[in-house]
Parts: sequence; C-alpha cells; structure tokens
Amino acid sequence: MINKVSKHIVQNEPLIFERTSPGKRGYQLPELDVPPVDPVQALGAKNVRSEIEDFPEVSEFEVLRHFSRLSTWNYAIDLGLYPLGSCTMKYNPRVNEVVARTEGLAWAHPYQPEHLSQGAMQVIAALEHALGEITGMDAVTLQPAAGAHGEFTGILMIRALLESRGGARSKILVPDSAHGTNPATAMMVGYSVENIKSNDRGVVDLEVLARAVTDDVAALMITNPNTVGVFEENIRKICGILHDKGALVYMDGANMNALVGVARPGDFGVDVMHLNLHKTFSTPHGGGGPGAGAVAVAQVLTPFLPGPRLRRAANGWTWNYDCPQSIGRVRAFYGNFGVLIRALAYILAHGGNGLRQATLDALLNANYLRTLLEPHYQIAYEAPSMHECVFSDDRQAKKGVRTGDIAKRLIDYGFHPYTVSFPLIVRGALMIEPTETESKLELDQFAGAMISIAKEVEDNPELVLKAPHSTRTPRVDEVTAARKPVVRWRPAAAASQAAD
Ligand SMILES: *Cc1c(COP(=O)(O)O)cnc(C)c1O
Repeated sequence: MINKVSKHIVQNEPLIFERTSPGKRGYQLPELDVPPVDPVQALGAKNVRSEIEDFPEVSEFEVLRHFSRLSTWNYAIDLGLYPLGSCTMKYNPRVNEVVARTEGLAWAHPYQPEHLSQGAMQVIAALEHALGEITGMDAVTLQPAAGAHGEFTGILMIRALLESRGGARSKILVPDSAHGTNPATAMMVGYSVENIKSNDRGVVDLEVLARAVTDDVAALMITNPNTVGVFEENIRKICGILHDKGALVYMDGANMNALVGVARPGDFGVDVMHLNLHKTFSTPHGGGGPGAGAVAVAQVLTPFLPGPRLRRAANGWTWNYDCPQSIGRVRAFYGNFGVLIRALAYILAHGGNGLRQATLDALLNANYLRTLLEPHYQIAYEAPSMHECVFSDDRQAKKGVRTGDIAKRLIDYGFHPYTVSFPLIVRGALMIEPTETESKLELDQFAGAMISIAKEVEDNPELVLKAPHSTRTPRVDEVTAARKPVVRWRPAAAASQAAD
C-alpha cells in the first residue's frame, strides 16, 4: 500500500513495479475487425516472448506521472550552480540547439553522396580550421567521441610516428596531478606508465622530469592547466626536455577553457592534444550522452591522423581515403556530428574576442570564489588559480568532517557538490570550478553556503556528518553500490528485503 501522507508526493514516488495493477493497460485499441493472427505462427516461437516476469501494468497517465516525478529528482545546470571541478559544467546557449536542429544538418545521412553533403562537410572543415587557430596546431581530427577517446587517438598517433622512426619506445610519463584517463590511455596503447611527482607549487619539477626522460620514453602526457588548476609555467622548458630526447608532448586539453584566446599550446611546444568540445565548447554533457574529443596535432603527426581526411577539390569538398600512414578510423563516419555543429555555433557566435572574454571570466569567477573561501578552507597550493580552485579538508578533518561530508551537506543548501577527493595528490580535495557563465549573485550564494557549512563543522559537526537531510534517501553505501551494483529490480529479492 502506498501511503502519501508523510512526504511530498514527488518525493514519495515508488518504483514503477510497485505501482503495478494486474490487467491495467496503457492503451486502448478499437476492436479487431480482421481475423486475429497467432504471433507464434507469424513470427516463429523463438521471436515471441510468452510472459515478462512482473512486467509493470500501469495506465498511460501513471507512466507519465512516474517519470515526470522522477525527473524532478535530478539536479541540472538549468537549476543552479554545478561546480564540479574538471568537468566544466557551464550553461550551454540554447541557440546552439536551434542550429543543431536545422533540418538539412539534423537529417543529413552519412551515406549521402558528397555532392549532397557539401554543407555538412563545410561545417566539419570550418570547425577543424577554427580549432586549429585556437590551439595553434597544424591539423585537427573531429572523429573521437570523448576526451579519453581523443587521448587514445593521440597516443596511437605518437606510437605510429615513433614506429616510423624505428621504434615505438616503451614508456609514457604522467605527472601525479594528471586526470585518471591519462595513465589508463597509455596502458591501453601498450605503454607502461611512470609517475612524475609534482613539487610543492603543484607543478612538474624540471629536475625530476629531466632525470625521468630516458631513451625509452615515448611521450609525456601533461594537463595544462593541471588538475590542481595551476598553469604549468615551465611548459616551454618541459617540451624542450622531451624533444631533446626525441620524445613527444601530449597535452590533455580538457581544461582549455582556461586558455582559449589567451595562450596556444602549439606556440608553447605541444605536439598533440585533445579538446573536450562537450566541456569548453558548450555541448550539454554529464549524462553519458554524446561528446567530442577533437584532437589537434603538429605537422609531424599529420600523416597519422585518422582517415578519411577532408580535401578541397575543384568542385567542392571530398573525402580522401588515401592516407597510407593513418592509424585508421577511430569512430564510425565522421564523429558525433551534432556535437560538432554546437561547437561551431558557439565559436562563431562568440568570435575571437568573445571566446577570450569567456576565458577571462572563467578565471575571474574561480579566483573570486577562492578569495571568498580561503579564510574558511585550506587552499591546496599557494600558486595562482586558473579556472578552478582546489582546497583540502585539513581544517574540517580536525573535527572529523571530510570533503565527502561537506559535499553531502551542500545538497541541503540546494547546490550540486564540487568534485570530491580529486585530484588524488591533494588529501581530502574539494575541487571547485564555477565556469564563466555564473553571475556574482550565484557565486555569492554558493560561497555563503560553503561558509555556513564551515561554521556548522565548528559548532555541530554531527549535522554535517549526517547530511543530506533534505533528500529522499540520506546516505547510500557507495562502496557496495560501486562493487556490487544491483541494477535490476527482482520481485523475489524485493520480497525478501521487505521481510528482513
Ligand atoms: C573530462 C576530462 C577528461 C576525460 O574526458 P571524457 O570526455 O570524459 O572522456 C580527461 N582529462 C581531463 C583533465 C578532464 O577534465
């Protein structure tokens, strides 16, 4: 029996299985006026399901209400600040959606003949050109579907180049401030990973690096600004150290929103990098939907780009499949085209000055928050912050409250938590990225919540340790949820749980 007196109707939503009522249908059809067909006879027994165990039987309206109510449990960028560090959860202008839905683009088919695809090919060419300009690199591929996929593509190209020079080498260096996808990528391409320790300013130590760059090092994978939000100020020297030993520099450019219009990786010596179009260039993301991890390369790597490549012929654009040194396709067709349209719309709507202003605003917002929060939380590194600021829970830990507890309490204040316990080199990290699209009012409210929580930690730590208090479910067992996920509701399991 579903009782709805104690909680708000929206909060009190059961599973759809628990709403079932045998015999209910979500549709009504007129009476059959032709002889009925036996589905087993028509389709064959192996194609017909006799019974779906405990399939929910509900009306159309109940289905609609169920999912509408569930949807209100989500937190979204359209509801408020989403300060998830490293993820760049910013507002994505709605005009990008309008452009992506343009009939000729939205309905273009990848098997359309080239002469009917010139507009779509022009979109790809224009975006490749714009990203080349923004990064200062010589060529761009738009095929990879995500940041990590871009890394994989880039490291495959490095391996192909080194093989063409006589040997792939065996090792990739990764600073300890790297995103977890970097070492994972290196391993997937068949390299071993060597960790490079950062110094007390949160950047790569040149002496440590120089010692590590031996003849078996293929590349350094470096994030800049790195995951503690600090610009690697020695990046030119770092690139020099690698290049002197015939090794390459891969830059994880997922944080490019701190550099666009201000500095170009191609100008400071990077050989290959990826961009997260779904972060910096404004495609909604975070729900596992499509992304794009464009990869930009210096001249030496262009022969190894995934094929086919666009080429300008006398009568328009054409795909060139004759790429003998290419690492091959990394994605069906030409990448996630809808994402590419949004990115181009965003770039063109902003123009060069607008993009630069977005970068400067992102830096301003992060540093504004840092200034407001520094009296209450321990900043991880004194070095200047770029687009995000990283604190540690050192002060709160003395009261037994950790970063995860503070994050849970933020939910009660109506904000999405920041990134918890990452980057790993900061003990008890609170990683906060406000992005450029937040107003001063929203930032002040967020800082107000964080400061209020810091006071609660002093006065009443239990309140924070037991948070959240405002959600349907308070704390879940995150370890068991990750290690032994139960992703399917089963009537027998539910019945035995109820009996417990
Ligand atoms: C988000 C991110 C990635 C991975 O990008 P995906 O699109 O999630 O694969 C890699 N590196 C950094 C620094 C990131 O922030």
